[in-house]
Amino acid sequence: MRYLSTRGKHYCSTSAEAIKIGIAPDGGLFVPENPELITLEQLQKISSLSFNDQAAFILQHFLSDYTAEEIRSCVDKAYNTHAFDTPEITPLKNISPGLFSLELWHGPTCAFKDMALQILPHLLTGAAEKTQESDEIVILVATSGDTGKAALEGFKNVPGTSIIVFFPDKGISEIQKMQMVTQEGNNVHVIAVEGNFDDTQSGVKAIFADNETNIALNQSGYRFSSANSINWGRLVPQIVYYFTAYTTLLNRKEITPGEKINFTVPTGNFGNILAGYYAQKMGLPVNKLICAANENNVLTEFIRTGMYDRNRKFRKTLSPSMDILISSNLERLLYEATSGNTGKINHWMDELKIKGYYEVDPDTRNFIDNIFWSEYANDQETIKTIKQTYDQYNYLMDTHTAVGKNVYEKYLMGTGDSTKTVLVSTASPFKFNTSVARAIFSETEFSGKSEFELLTLLSQTTGMPIPQGLSDLDKKSVLHTNSIDKENMQQAVKQALKL
Ligand SMILES: *Cc1c(COP(=O)(O)O)cnc(C)c1O
Repeated sequence: MRYLSTRGKHYCSTSAEAIKIGIAPDGGLFVPENPELITLEQLQKISSLSFNDQAAFILQHFLSDYTAEEIRSCVDKAYNTHAFDTPEITPLKNISPGLFSLELWHGPTCAFKDMALQILPHLLTGAAEKTQESDEIVILVATSGDTGKAALEGFKNVPGTSIIVFFPDKGISEIQKMQMVTQEGNNVHVIAVEGNFDDTQSGVKAIFADNETNIALNQSGYRFSSANSINWGRLVPQIVYYFTAYTTLLNRKEITPGEKINFTVPTGNFGNILAGYYAQKMGLPVNKLICAANENNVLTEFIRTGMYDRNRKFRKTLSPSMDILISSNLERLLYEATSGNTGKINHWMDELKIKGYYEVDPDTRNFIDNIFWSEYANDQETIKTIKQTYDQYNYLMDTHTAVGKNVYEKYLMGTGDSTKTVLVSTASPFKFNTSVARAIFSETEFSGKSEFELLTLLSQTTGMPIPQGLSDLDKKSVLHTNSIDKENMQQAVKQALKL
């Protein structure tokens, strides 16, 4: 199956090439040309298989140039009880009648990015082998918190790769910082940058674009690659759990074969929910994909009006991993909605760049309206949802998941649709423990406590164990102390790779 660019005529003949290159030379994103349908009979058949068996089956449909053994090996290296704290990998919990929480945070960093970043390194090294790439792959990451740690855990000790992560010394939580500076592995570099996330991100972009660095890199046998969410290799693993959520409901006889379900998805860069769209396109019985945003509600406005407008104030919210004004993966949906009209997409993307907004035509709007529904939740509603759900159903959620739940409640009120719904749960409540503690404890109970003390308090109160990746973090040795000025990032890369 070919992979085409959303911006023009460029294509890759294989998924391996698309994953290795990451982004098309014309600046577009790679999309699969014609993924094969999965029939209801096939769905029923795979429903009795393990998570890994089902994952291998689904992935084969997109990675048609990888052999079955290669895919199976990538899947097994990624999803196992060494990295995940449950053999189910993605447990599905019943919260209330008709509502199920799909917990995607049982991996090493306690957030859903592990689902993709545990397998991406293996897909990427497989791709390098297939395309006869002899250079070592260097992954450069600028992180605002979650992605950096998930990428480090995914790439650590993977032969043929090195990873360099830059994080801003201001603006990330104590736990996120400790997760990174205690990172083990023989191919990892973690560097603090004096500045904010924008400085760090601009620095990384400049290094990617710098000719001189790239030449020096190639001469030493390295090539840059990205673990960014626009890489097809990060999107495709996320399609799997939409299917396994459905087969789990089938197994539990919660639904009958062919019965449609909804998914409500806390959304930022539009990667997770887009994977749900691809699952539906391949035949998964989906009624609505509910796009849940926080106060950075560009996507809600877009889905409701057809106008995408990033000219607004950026807000820092309690669901920081969704604080995004440019949702890059939306471009892939536009490709689907316009049946691959790259002329239109180029026009809209140019407008976004120049004016900061674009408006799609009525046909495109109708296409999106048929499958998506959107609302947003503010911080106050997020906190209230955590508390109410905990009090009423004894189920504790993090802030991102709570946005998904709150928006689902608005969906129910607005539509009266009683279709069974899966809430896609994207982080452990322990990971964003300050906000979660604020929701369920009184001021006197939690004030003055450090993030680490809050972990213990949360665990004692709820009876949930502290996830392994977070427990004892304050007692681990700090292995990375390098802190640099934002002007010196390029130099730091050269030093790390000994160029
Ligand atoms: C990244 C992230 C999201 C947003 O996912 P997208 O694929 O960017 O839409 C939501 N919740 C958490 C916890 C995340 O880390």
